[in-house]
Amino acid sequence: MERTDIKSLNLEELTAFLVSAGEKPFRAKQLYEWIHQKLAASYDEMTNLPKSLKEKLPKMADLPSLTVVEEKISQIDGTRKYLFGLSDGNVIESVLMKYKHGNSVCISSQVGCRMGCRFCASTLDGLERNLSPAEMLDQIYRIQKLTGERVSNIVVMGSGEPLDNYENLVQFIHLLTDENGLNISQRNVTVSTCGIVPAILKLAEEKFQITLALSLHAPNDEVRKSLMPVANRYPLVDVLSACHTYFEKTGRRITFEYSLVSGVNDNLKEASALSVLLKAQHGHINLIPVNPIKERDYVQSDRKAIEAFKNLLEKNGINVTIRREMGRDINGACGQLRKSFLNQE
Ligand code: SAH
Repeated sequence: MERTDIKSLNLEELTAFLVSAGEKPFRAKQLYEWIHQKLAASYDEMTNLPKSLKEKLPKMADLPSLTVVEEKISQIDGTRKYLFGLSDGNVIESVLMKYKHGNSVCISSQVGCRMGCRFCASTLDGLERNLSPAEMLDQIYRIQKLTGERVSNIVVMGSGEPLDNYENLVQFIHLLTDENGLNISQRNVTVSTCGIVPAILKLAEEKFQITLALSLHAPNDEVRKSLMPVANRYPLVDVLSACHTYFEKTGRRITFEYSLVSGVNDNLKEASALSVLLKAQHGHINLIPVNPIKERDYVQSDRKAIEAFKNLLEKNGINVTIRREMGRDINGACGQLRKSFLNQE
């Protein structure tokens, strides 16, 4: 019989699973609470379950829990970066960032990535595999357990393209925001995508109250294609139209991400073109000074160029922020920690 990953099941599915194993339905609620509220990493911790069930479960079901391979704490701002081990030996990274408004965890959605964005470290070795809902959840569960800190915001902005792992992402969001689990508000969940149009449209139909972040990085297809291969598949006009649909269906404003790369997408002509594009959109733009990776020779825009870019957008009435860099001393950019770990082996 195939083993079931019970951490990826919702309460209804878990109930069906236990009933088919000859157990009483009410046991599902207890088990679900152990997994998703008390964040138990093993069956042994589940003290109110009968011994017979605790002996039966490990024979037929997996309770995937991540192991800590490495933890790095920033001396600058207290950001914590984790390298977690999966049961098949793969490693992924997650980040805890502390803000005044609460703790935010950035999670990975895949092992590696196949999108090929030129400036990104996560995609250098391609896609290894998708993460299960349980493996996405457990990044948050382990961090909350290890630090004892309540996590209030989740950003799916670590390694991987979440909309390339669609079904698992949707199940993950349901479990994360379930009132019988951690009960994180959907409004505090952000999913970032490089712009897979059909998946954005599908997500709009789920009627979630999550924020969609769109990695824009260029005001036209020519520059966008030079940075992001996905732009060859989906032209900007379709991507922006899908974002507009997302806003219309959900009422949620879009966050546009724009990583500034010196001499590639950071001049004022581009800022001006960007203003025109975003005028028709409901959302704001987040400027990110590109985090250089050693495998590519992209250079971060200097402060003056970033300020000038921001000022022009503001002058044109666009809502703009510059992303604060967190954990600069501990391998900030996506996928860099995992990459340096794999290189050491
Ligand atoms: N695949 C998703 C989410 C992961 S990346 C996406 O493309 O949106 C999260 C954000 O970080 C994206 O906007 C991505 O383009 C950006 N990013 C990746 N590597 C970066 C780097 N080295 N410097 C600045 N931004 C980077």
